[in-house]
Amino acid sequence: MHVETFAVGPLGCNCSIVADLEAKKAVVIDPGGNFDEIARRLAARELTVSAIVHTHTHIDHVGATAPLQRLTGAEACIHEGDRFLYDMLPVQAAMIGCALPETVEMEGSLVDGKAFRIGALELAVLHTPGHTPGSVSFLVSPSGESPRVFTGDTLFRGGIGRTDLWGGDGNLILKSLRGKLMSLADEAIVVAGHGPNSTIGHERRQNPFLV
Ligand SMILES: [Zn+2]
Ligand SMILES: [Zn+2]
Repeated sequence: MHVETFAVGPLGCNCSIVADLEAKKAVVIDPGGNFDEIARRLAARELTVSAIVHTHTHIDHVGATAPLQRLTGAEACIHEGDRFLYDMLPVQAAMIGCALPETVEMEGSLVDGKAFRIGALELAVLHTPGHTPGSVSFLVSPSGESPRVFTGDTLFRGGIGRTDLWGGDGNLILKSLRGKLMSLADEAIVVAGHGPNSTIGHERRQNPFLV
């Protein structure tokens, strides 16, 4: 498994490229900005993008989706529960004072239990609502390697996502964290929506919202 995670856009959203380098296939998670950098990283490895997926549709996670979709022709996917947020991108842009990004047709195809094939890899969708109604996490469990879970703004190293924005739900995020994410193995690497990586074991023992 090849993973590149790098911060993009003014709010430092973590964008990830998950690839099977032999098959030259990739999925891009949360292209929130820096389209040129994402395109350059894909070209450097000659990767074909089979899907562009989003942990949720806050503006900092979807800013470069439209040009990336045009470049790759890949389907752009969200959980249907977050479509209302994508429809209100102008309100989100006004709130944080950034330019309104170009929008694109989003497939509402991210449902709990769905899996995307990336060459020999499989990226599974876990519905983890609470930060937003359509927040999801993505889990890759390659044989012989630690699993990796991309938690978006549901789980950060030492913190959890805010629930005071549109559709946020403080009880639901705890249910998602305890029921879904904390059921993963301790060694699973957590790639959060912002900030440094962690592991499920570290969060289970150290995260003040979970201990
Ligand atoms: Zn968010
Ligand atoms: Zn975010």
